[in-house]
Amino acid sequence: MNENKNQCMFTLGCPVYKHFSSEGIKRLFILQYCESDFVRCERFILKMAGKEVPEKLLPNGDTLE
Ligand code: SF4
Repeated sequence: MNENKNQCMFTLGCPVYKHFSSEGIKRLFILQYCESDFVRCERFILKMAGKEVPEKLLPNGDTLE
């Protein structure tokens, strides 16, 4: 599906995407995490550890309102 090795394998349908009210902020997170440094994403870290990932948890560890 993706040929970019810097892209997170969970990008398609990552549950947090639908909760952003601002497309601009969503895009920023995608650029900073999903399409580059996804190993730092708190969602990714929890998922890879087999833990439950709260829907509104942001890559930086904050939670969306
Ligand atoms: S938010 Fe995290 S888990 Fe979701 S696609 Fe982006 S990097 Fe992957």
